[in-house]
Amino acid sequence: SEKNKKIKALIEELQHISRTDPLTGLANRRQFINSFQENVARNKREGTALSLLFFDIDHFKAINDRHGHHFGDVILTSLAKLLASNSRPYDSLARWGGEEFLLLLPKVNENEAFDIGERIRKKARIKFSKEFDIPFSISIGVAQHRNNDSMDIFIDQADNALYAAKQTGRNRVIKFSELEKTWL
Ligand code: GH3
Ligand code: MG
Ligand code: MG
Repeated sequence: SEKNKKIKALIEELQHISRTDPLTGLANRRQFINSFQENVARNKREGTALSLLFFDIDHFKAINDRHGHHFGDVILTSLAKLLASNSRPYDSLARWGGEEFLLLLPKVNENEAFDIGERIRKKARIKFSKEFDIPFSISIGVAQHRNNDSMDIFIDQADNALYAAKQTGRNRVIKFSELEKTWL
């Protein structure tokens, strides 16, 4: 009936809202968690690699302070678009928090993920510095998923690599496995 159709459409709209970040239109944290679980299951079945890029805009607070919050929002939506156009249909891209984005890469090992991160880092730096006439850079942490590690552990690994990228001067990509070497 007409009423049932309306209810169905409303449910679909609510589902969409519950999964989407309103500013950038990307998946939100809730949707990323679903994607992670699906990908881990597939990864286990097929025995393929699964890697993660953790992006964080450098000195974003200063960009907001200097140019205003609205300009900051424009940067966020533009970066979301750049990330989307540089990912494959079966990758999972999400806005994780304020100026933090995650890109989950099925069938990609840590070294390949590093190369993808480097390509995106350079593109974003060149494009945004020109387009918005500001110094712009992002830092990126990389990790490859290890069997049976939880999502929290996996994200922490990429976040630790990101932290190392910040500590060593920003505008760079760092692999979690590189950190482990220095811990030995
Ligand atoms: P770092 O290089 O160490 O990452 O420094 P940072 O300034 O980027 O990091 P910090 O965590 O200090 O600041 C993040 C800023 O992001 C602060 C917050 O106001 C801003 N932010 C978070 N969400 C939004 C948003 O939706 N829009 C805008 N315009 N700013 C946001
Ligand atoms: Mg941050
Ligand atoms: Mg930042």
